[in-house]
Amino acid sequence: MKNNRNKGFTILEVIVALSVMSVLLVVTVPQLTQYIGSSEKSVCEANRLEFIRSYNIYLSSGGEKTLAQALNGEVSDMLGTLHDLKCPSGGTFSVSNGSIVCSVHGPIGSTGSGGTGSNPGGESGTGSNPGGESGTGSNPGGGTGSSLVGTTIFSDIVVGDWTALCNQIIKDKLDSGIDGRVLTGGKVYAYGNSLYVIGNNPYLKAADAAGDINAAGDINKVGYINNPDAFATNNKMLKIDITTTISSSSYVWDQWHSGRYWSPALKHGVVFSEGGSSYVFLGSDNTVNESLPPNGNWIKLISGT
Ligand SMILES: [Zn+2]
Repeated sequence: MKNNRNKGFTILEVIVALSVMSVLLVVTVPQLTQYIGSSEKSVCEANRLEFIRSYNIYLSSGGEKTLAQALNGEVSDMLGTLHDLKCPSGGTFSVSNGSIVCSVHGPIGSTGSGGTGSNPGGESGTGSNPGGESGTGSNPGGGTGSSLVGTTIFSDIVVGDWTALCNQIIKDKLDSGIDGRVLTGGKVYAYGNSLYVIGNNPYLKAADAAGDINAAGDINKVGYINNPDAFATNNKMLKIDITTTISSSSYVWDQWHSGRYWSPALKHGVVFSEGGSSYVFLGSDNTVNESLPPNGNWIKLISGT
């Protein structure tokens, strides 16, 4: 008997061992696949961001092909980066809203909505923007996206995505040859951490837009935002600060002038908001004898969408 026991396992021992192993598999395999799924997504996103970064460098050095064309191998300088652009889960890439979308992992920054592999639906609802349209505006063009895009200011004005608009203008030029378009005065856009309003219908060309996207945080090429005097005669795009909003309580009767005047004096870019309507002042700093909106040198703010 003793020899028999040493030569092998009893049925009971085999059953116990198999049971333990099956329990271990049940517990660890889903965790393992989930872990693999999320790390594959991270690698996929990192690869896409690297490609977009490379594309922005290409644009800033005068390149004119679209992101889609770069993705299609039409930019020789980017073929090396394109070779590295792979999805570990076998997803395929397409361009949407100026960014690269993976068929498995969705847009960059999405929270699991594209999860169709080993972790379907996983991670949804976690993260800073659960269920939001993350990816469509948060990182278009790579690195210059703004968290202000899609937010609502002054109760009904939705902030548009300046970078996406510029990308679209570049794309339109390459697709159909139409170079630029008239921007609508009063539309509010976000660029980086700042808000801007379109002035008096400037004409934005693809070359301006391309330079603008790569201008490392400023949009002087389109705007003159740091030069109010130039802006006053060539209203294009103005940076606005919604934290210094004024109302008609600043439009006071002035006995000395025997009329109504602004006190304190108006500043270029100040926002007047009252009764559901908001306006930005396009005149010079220290103006006191300006009409009450909508008359005078004001432009009404509207959604940049
Ligand atoms: Zn992917």
